[in-house]
Amino acid sequence: MINLILFGPPGAGKGTQSQKLIEKYQLSHISTGDLFRYNMKNATSLGKLAKSYIDAGNLVPDEVTNNMVKDFIERTPSKNGYILDGYPRSSNQAKYIDNLLDDFKLSPALLLSLEVNEDELIKRLLERGKTSNRIDDQDESVIRKRQNVYQKETAPVKEYYDYKKRAYSISGLGDVETIFDRIAGVIQKHL
Ligand code: AMP
Repeated sequence: MINLILFGPPGAGKGTQSQKLIEKYQLSHISTGDLFRYNMKNATSLGKLAKSYIDAGNLVPDEVTNNMVKDFIERTPSKNGYILDGYPRSSNQAKYIDNLLDDFKLSPALLLSLEVNEDELIKRLLERGKTSNRIDDQDESVIRKRQNVYQKETAPVKEYYDYKKRAYSISGLGDVETIFDRIAGVIQKHL
């Protein structure tokens, strides 16, 4: 089993690369953004709660997000492991998932960080906003807000994994296949 955190700012390519990794390594996908969007679409109480945070480009509170991830893992056992996409996004979430994996006797996660400069990220997100139906991709001020939230609240997660010697930086520039080969190169060393 291998558990991976696909890390990086909004627009780094986490969703695209997750799909390819799931296929190659038969992992279960946990995308907190997708789970929130599913709940918003179905107007569940979780979706209603998350919406105001998401539309403004803020993080949904840790407790809500952590419980949602715990529920998902409990309901979805995985033989080969999980790929965490867009989670953890705060130091509190990082500590929570580390303890949870340990409690469930699952392997500690490796963090794979996709590195992309901010000008490129904003360009990609505005492009995605034209076709994705995501309100948060259609407003440049919300896109910039999400980048700021990433720098302030999410970037420290990488330091936490660096300290634990479980973080890897990977260039997120170039074509999808080239980036995928870089990621697979790191994973291969841990199988
Ligand atoms: P994403 O699809 O990963 O870009 O997530 C879209 C939005 O969902 C984010 O801007 C946050 O508002 C919310 N969200 C997703 N994952 C998390 C998380 N791990 N913690 C808090 N909020 C999250």
